[in-house]
Amino acid sequence: MANSDGIGDSGFRFGNGRLCFTFTATLGDRGAPVPLERLAVPGDLARWCVEAGLLDETPPAGAAALAGARRLREAIDRAAERVRTGASPGPQDAEILNDWAARPALAPQLDATGGLGWRQEGAQVRHVLALVARDAVDVLTGPMRSRLRRCAGPDCDGLFVDVSRPGNRRWCSMNTCGNRVKKAAYRQRHAQSG
Ligand SMILES: [Zn+2]
Repeated sequence: MANSDGIGDSGFRFGNGRLCFTFTATLGDRGAPVPLERLAVPGDLARWCVEAGLLDETPPAGAAALAGARRLREAIDRAAERVRTGASPGPQDAEILNDWAARPALAPQLDATGGLGWRQEGAQVRHVLALVARDAVDVLTGPMRSRLRRCAGPDCDGLFVDVSRPGNRRWCSMNTCGNRVKKAAYRQRHAQSG
């Protein structure tokens, strides 16, 4: 599970507040010359499903699942970028999203404490990816589509939905990129004064 910084045990980012964008954040440092691939091997994808709180047990995952997951992830990122800049998603990306969104997905469940849980019997990576795709379709067509942003953190470029009232949020997560920038500014101030 993610710690209070919004960073999971395996270094996954979970602090940006939206399932489909925690998934696109599995490719980190998108603004860097070489982005950080957090889904390097199929086991990473399986761990993400568990650390995201969607599956209780690590599901089987192979090379084909990983390739499909990355394809969906980048289709979401490109489609969101188009919507963010006022355009429509490209037809190929829309097809990838729509295909996944039409497949059987994890079902939401009320848990014993009244919180949100997920139906677990027989749940596989593909049910998780279908849920991620549905979340992406929901964001990209919903009332918050005008609030899509990319993080201003150095190299991050992670997607998030700005739910702040003034609409001036700059970081994918205050606990990760926001803090990094604040600490860097603090160090710089003290270096100048000292
Ligand atoms: Zn960020």
